[in-house]
Amino acid sequence: MNAATNELQEIYRQRVLDHSKHPHNFRQLPTPTHEALGFNPLCGDKLKIYLQMNDDHISDVAFEGTGCAISVASASMMTEAIRGQSVAAASKLIGAAQHIFSTGMPADNKALDEVEALAGVSQYPSRIKCASLAWSTAEAALSGKTNQVSTEE
Ligand code: ZN
Repeated sequence: MNAATNELQEIYRQRVLDHSKHPHNFRQLPTPTHEALGFNPLCGDKLKIYLQMNDDHISDVAFEGTGCAISVASASMMTEAIRGQSVAAASKLIGAAQHIFSTGMPADNKALDEVEALAGVSQYPSRIKCASLAWSTAEAALSGKTNQVSTEE
């Protein structure tokens, strides 16, 4: 491994740590139009995602819960990525993020620049579930499903 690769990995690690220690939009929404609960029993990650829809747009998004650093960092990044997006655009971003986690390949999408810091989880199947939990839960919330989402279904 060369120095540049090491440096990049260090930056990515730092970015994930920043998001996990100081998650963005870690709060409840007062009157969410959509919400869903996501659970990853293998790790114990449990996240609740709140959405405020305004016509076809996500005007606000927030989350609460407990989980490992990867699940919390990924949820924090998810809220930043989908805020202000239309439902269709958010669904696309969610699919693209899941693709990053499962393949480790970059998405070529500005809205997912931060999320690429989590591309390394692709090498660890159990960690893919941690990273993808917030996104699959957001997708469930978007589609109006209120049941709990589990990574083990
Ligand atoms: Zn986890």
